[in-house]
Amino acid sequence: MDIEELATGVIASERRALARAITLVESGRADHRAEAMRLLAALPQDRQALRIGLSGTPGVGKSTFIESFGMMLTAMGKRVAVLAVDPSSSRSGGSILGDKTRMDRLSRDPNAFVRPSPSQTHLGGVARRTREAVRLCEAAGYDVVLIETVGVGQSETVVAEMSDVFLLLLAPAGGDELQGVKRGIMEMADLIVVNKADGDLAATAMRTCADYSGALRLLRKRPQDPQGYPRAMTVSALQDIGLPETWETLQTLVNWRRDNGYWDRTRASQARYWFEQDIRQTLLAQLETPAARASMAELGEQVATGALDPADGAARFMSALRRDPD
Ligand code: GDP
Repeated sequence: MDIEELATGVIASERRALARAITLVESGRADHRAEAMRLLAALPQDRQALRIGLSGTPGVGKSTFIESFGMMLTAMGKRVAVLAVDPSSSRSGGSILGDKTRMDRLSRDPNAFVRPSPSQTHLGGVARRTREAVRLCEAAGYDVVLIETVGVGQSETVVAEMSDVFLLLLAPAGGDELQGVKRGIMEMADLIVVNKADGDLAATAMRTCADYSGALRLLRKRPQDPQGYPRAMTVSALQDIGLPETWETLQTLVNWRRDNGYWDRTRASQARYWFEQDIRQTLLAQLETPAARASMAELGEQVATGALDPADGAARFMSALRRDPD
């Protein structure tokens, strides 16, 4: 593959080049990885998109929201890319986020690029590829990159670590349980968006929004943000209500963070986070080679029979690994 040509295509924002480039960074093959690294190194660093992380449980209306919000942004002249971190395990099979071709109108919009969720391996691997796909979209000149995930386990943390702002999408719900949203996820959110505020659900949506506004006020203050953030608001993705307000609310936050240096500091600490993650993953991958597995099984057997002390066995394993990392 001609990597220079591919890089040129990405920078010129050719869709097919971008799609091929993302396929390349998603590939697990070692030779592809080497090419992906060359490609990423050949991209300009000076193009930045607004990276918006978006999370919500299945059915809250993520695809509907992304489509309506994305169409609004392209109508404003912005170029929008949509990526996903899908935490589905290979064991459970299938994608939790479903088939992204659901965003039919947005997919056909010449100013939008909708990428289906990458095929699942473990979350760490998917996360790295999505982060690299974000870089590719930025290099291709997209103004906004929406990164979608589903509200389970670790995937929000992963998306928050590659986003400038983080949006939590919720559905209207009665009761005072705050829908079992974990405190950690609430703390991550810059904006809680209660969707489906239309028709019969409008009143419940308003109440849900008020509940969450109250809950957000109880969280620790964020000195880096303007008064009143994090915020909760209502929208109807289906009926296009409240979407311009959502964009304005995000813009206010983003401008503030840019002005006080928080934006740059966050990007710097995120880069460091991914650097450290990559080291961890590389080391973990070394444990998964056939030689490492065989050595672990053999030494493990000796440990199990009492012939070898566990710590001693581990030390032997580690020195074998250092001698022969592959
Ligand atoms: P996702 O699983 O989070 O991506 O949710 P979808 O976007 O697929 O939406 C799930 C269901 O909720 C669909 O039947 C949508 O039509 C419906 N839905 C999405 N947004 C709205 C909304 O603003 N109002 C109403 N009433 N229904 C909505």
